[in-house]
Amino acid sequence: MARNPGTVVDLSGAEIIDNHLHGFRIEDLLAQDPRDFETRLNLLGTLFSDSTLTREAGREDPSLWRQARRMTESTVYSLAARRWLAERLGCEATAEGVAAAREKAFRADPVGYIRALLDDAGVAGLLVDDGFPLPRVPSEEFRAAVGGTPVHRVARIETMIVDARDEAKDLAALEDAFEAEMDRAAGDPTTVAFKSIIAYRTGLDVQPVTSREAAAAYERWRADGWKESRDHAKPVRDFLLYRAAEAARRNDRPLHVHTGNGDPDIVLSRARPHDLLPFLKEHLAQPIVLIHTGFPWTDVAAYIASSLPNVYLDLSVLIPWASLGIEQLLTVLLGTAPAGKLLYASDEASEPEVIWIAARMARRAMERALGDAVERDFITVREAEELGRGILSGNSRRLHGIEG
Ligand SMILES: [Zn+2]
Repeated sequence: MARNPGTVVDLSGAEIIDNHLHGFRIEDLLAQDPRDFETRLNLLGTLFSDSTLTREAGREDPSLWRQARRMTESTVYSLAARRWLAERLGCEATAEGVAAAREKAFRADPVGYIRALLDDAGVAGLLVDDGFPLPRVPSEEFRAAVGGTPVHRVARIETMIVDARDEAKDLAALEDAFEAEMDRAAGDPTTVAFKSIIAYRTGLDVQPVTSREAAAAYERWRADGWKESRDHAKPVRDFLLYRAAEAARRNDRPLHVHTGNGDPDIVLSRARPHDLLPFLKEHLAQPIVLIHTGFPWTDVAAYIASSLPNVYLDLSVLIPWASLGIEQLLTVLLGTAPAGKLLYASDEASEPEVIWIAARMARRAMERALGDAVERDFITVREAEELGRGILSGNSRRLHGIEG
């Protein structure tokens, strides 16, 4: 078969809506040690602050952070980030060179520096999971920190559960307070979705629970000092996830659910997208986004999205942490699920540069994966670019009602 002339897929001008990331405060960024900047950019470094396990262990044993720092030197993602940032900052591509140039440029005008990064990456909107860091960074505050780039709130339900739980005298009171808080969050015009991290608490194998069972479990859970357990916490959390799905439906908002790998606090044995399947099958009409595409079980998540009409896949975690492997993962996802269900995201949770690095990695990997599909005679260049623009922004805009 003759090869189509001009098979180059060009997504360089395509805008980005970052479907999942975390807020930050300028003063917190300024308070960080500049020498550790590169390590904070990668996964191992990011997790030191995200994960209770590594954060606390790291405080006890400083050798853990030193090891993370050493490993930065052989992390492919970090080596690419170093060279790309050096190019941008006009400095030598060494750890010290980048840290010093970045420190100088950032301190001179933090907000201007961040905005320029986002503009260079073509970022037109940010969907911010407000459950980390805490206290939450309100949308307006974060919008000011990123120099006016539109910020959309993803309201995390576990934070609402903790707030309501401390006040509630019984399950009925907790349920009322929780539902009222979800409706209140939906009333915030910046809220575009709800999010659950039940995979970090009692696992994704969520089952239907009667009010009576949940009420009894609630009493046991409280007596147990709110420890996360299968016996006491799980029935209540499962019960509340059903209420959350109802509230999402009532308020016409998608529900984001963390699936697959996260920081080491995750209940990894019950974080597989497979575990959530019964719940997904009970909510066929409710748009549900599998955050992180269940990474590393991305093929299973893709299969689920290909078989259930309203299940979507958020590409963060595999982007950017799979670095070299992103292209291969994208090929499998594109070959399995409708591209209209794939949502680009960075999962930035440490430094603003992660948003820029992830966007650059993703754009290139997508051009190659889609270009390969063109070369292999599956799609045309025009179709490839259309699918690419959907993944980078259009799909998330449509799903979340974000105008552009
Ligand atoms: Zn996240």
